[in-house]
Amino acid sequence: MKSDQLKILPWSLEITGMDQRQYPFYESILSQGNGYLGVRGFDPAGIKENSFERSTFLAGFFEYIKPEITDMVNLPDLFSVRFGMPCQEISAAATLDLKTGLLTRKAVWEMESGELFRLSSRRCVSMHNKHASALEVEIRPLNGDLHISLETGLDGDVTNLPISDEQLTENTQYKRLLAPVICEAHDAGGALVMESMPSERRVYQAYRVMTNLPMTTTGAGADAYTAVRVEGIIPEGDALVVTKTIATYSDRDHVPDHLAEATKLAQLLAGLGFAGVLKESTQAWCELWESCDIELDGDPELQGAVRYNIFQLLQNNAAADPYVSIGARGLMHGRYKGNYFWDTEIFMLPFFLYTRPEAAKNLLLYRYHMLPSARAGAKSLGLKGARYPWMSSNTGHEQCETWDTGYCEVHITADVAHAVQEYVRITDDQDFLVHYGAEMLIETARYWVSRLTYHEATDCYNLLFVKGPDEYCGVTTNNTYTNYLVRQNLLGAIRAVNLLRQRPEDWDALQAKLHVTAQELAEFEDAAEKIVILYDQERDLLLQDEVFERMEPLDISAHKLGATALYRTIPYDRLQRYKVLKQADLVLLMTLYPDRFSTKLKQNIWSYYEPLTLHDSSLSCGTHAQLAFDLGYEDVAWDYFQKSVFLDLHNIMENTHHEGIHMAALGASWQALVLGMAGLRQGKDGRPQVDPKLPRSIRGLRFSVVMGGCKYKITIDQDRTKNSIG
Ligand code: BGC
Repeated sequence: MKSDQLKILPWSLEITGMDQRQYPFYESILSQGNGYLGVRGFDPAGIKENSFERSTFLAGFFEYIKPEITDMVNLPDLFSVRFGMPCQEISAAATLDLKTGLLTRKAVWEMESGELFRLSSRRCVSMHNKHASALEVEIRPLNGDLHISLETGLDGDVTNLPISDEQLTENTQYKRLLAPVICEAHDAGGALVMESMPSERRVYQAYRVMTNLPMTTTGAGADAYTAVRVEGIIPEGDALVVTKTIATYSDRDHVPDHLAEATKLAQLLAGLGFAGVLKESTQAWCELWESCDIELDGDPELQGAVRYNIFQLLQNNAAADPYVSIGARGLMHGRYKGNYFWDTEIFMLPFFLYTRPEAAKNLLLYRYHMLPSARAGAKSLGLKGARYPWMSSNTGHEQCETWDTGYCEVHITADVAHAVQEYVRITDDQDFLVHYGAEMLIETARYWVSRLTYHEATDCYNLLFVKGPDEYCGVTTNNTYTNYLVRQNLLGAIRAVNLLRQRPEDWDALQAKLHVTAQELAEFEDAAEKIVILYDQERDLLLQDEVFERMEPLDISAHKLGATALYRTIPYDRLQRYKVLKQADLVLLMTLYPDRFSTKLKQNIWSYYEPLTLHDSSLSCGTHAQLAFDLGYEDVAWDYFQKSVFLDLHNIMENTHHEGIHMAALGASWQALVLGMAGLRQGKDGRPQVDPKLPRSIRGLRFSVVMGGCKYKITIDQDRTKNSIG
């Protein structure tokens, strides 16, 4: 539901008259990050019942919460400010600047003794130096001199709240995953080293505190809390500015002495001051916007929302780290325990692929580095090759604890293979294919051959006991989306082998590892040719799976009330026997291969499945918008596009407040805009082509894409004669 207090401007979000009941929602949408670190947009001086609501996460920093199962560790609160006198906030406003990543909060506070003061805070998580963050707090008395006492430092008294995969199970069990190793404070700063249990992984933080007015400062704290206490009198008409610079490292960083490094950096940042840290970060943001911005004429609110989507994708991506991916809620919330899903490869990756190919490569390298676990995953099920887990963390082992999803939503493996092939197609990075992609394609193809069931009487390969993207389909047979991608995976492996054979040295190196046999290749070919793709010729329609047609119809209008997902009102068990879809399934397939299927078939898929789709997953609307744009269904495309692009900003799923940002929807919106509305394709010459379908309210669109290593600037105008690609 739309918040009246939130204004979406072309380059910022502005919230005025903040309503305390909506704080969790604001905290989600105001999250800040730099791909390394993610921090919810909470008020530094605000009080929370539990530390989980002030969560801070570090990419790739997971810990076991039970055998085999990890959670993304909630880190010390680095923006913590505590007042030493009883006082409370009486009004507040906040601004998130999308150009610079700066979060500003302006509030009026009242002391129990009646004094009023304005509290303004500015937070920066540096895009320039991933280890750097800074906070500036300004306190301005409003009715007379103010005696102030506050502490600011690092608050390591934090817990995790591991969230069950079962969306209906409320999480209530807090778990402490960090224990202090070093906790120091002096009059100008301090340090905190925390160790996770049981793996003994460490996070190292150091901070410095400075004030503009002469104040008494002393080191304070105990256990896992370190702070500098600032005390003194702020004369009326003056303002106290407290600046804190923070450096964060973990043992994922390869430096000789982490604490020394953190201490040195906190000191260096203190020399720059808040303005200096922000300036460097702004410069880095400026470079990112240079390649990633989409300018859209005609609708300032939509312009802001589109930029917000891009902003969050960038903030949650550790672009230079080939050992992490992007969680379904990024670094901004612990939902799904921070795990990586197909959300990355199918929904988010295209954005990076067309704007920051190096970042896309690193996302795929994460999957490459997880191959040993994927091999172990296949082996543990008596299968060959490599099977990627439905939910994946730093270990690469299956993190999904819901058996039907964990065992059956196998399309993830084909999704990864699809992403590898898309990456190579758009970038023409043959070296990636030779050194990494081929191995992934061959190992995943091996998995499929062992996972398929050959049926002699029909001379076909069936994929039994699977769940497709539509999670309301139950456990089924021959999900067409999955089978189609499996076929592409098998063919991709054969193509990769053929290419490698032309580079004998590379082929020998790969063969020394994989020992691919002629018989195996024949098996890949046979399976690709004979895998069942359910097609009803009479209706010119692909069928979702073997049982969908036999399911019981449901009067959707009588059951689906507002945006509330149906699994909240109808038991999941019952839902899986109704002829309804949770999210795009074959509609998604049409968008993955937009030029492969006839327009008639795409139209038939749309008319048959769209009315049955409930969009109970945030991944659905963007994909529907994309296909609708492709088919020229302008009004309906526009409607779906708005639902996707404003999904979090308007809290459309009604869970942004307690689940955080839906990362896949951000990526799906980008695809709907660029691949759908602008109709971007790669032409036969390897250059971009567009086939725009701009709605009347959008006068023009400008963005850049990278194809085959070259950057192109694309301009699209309602008046098509002004379109250009240069
Ligand atoms: C969706 C999945 C998705 C997961 C994480 C589920 O509700 O059905 O497709 O991968 O959420 O976003």
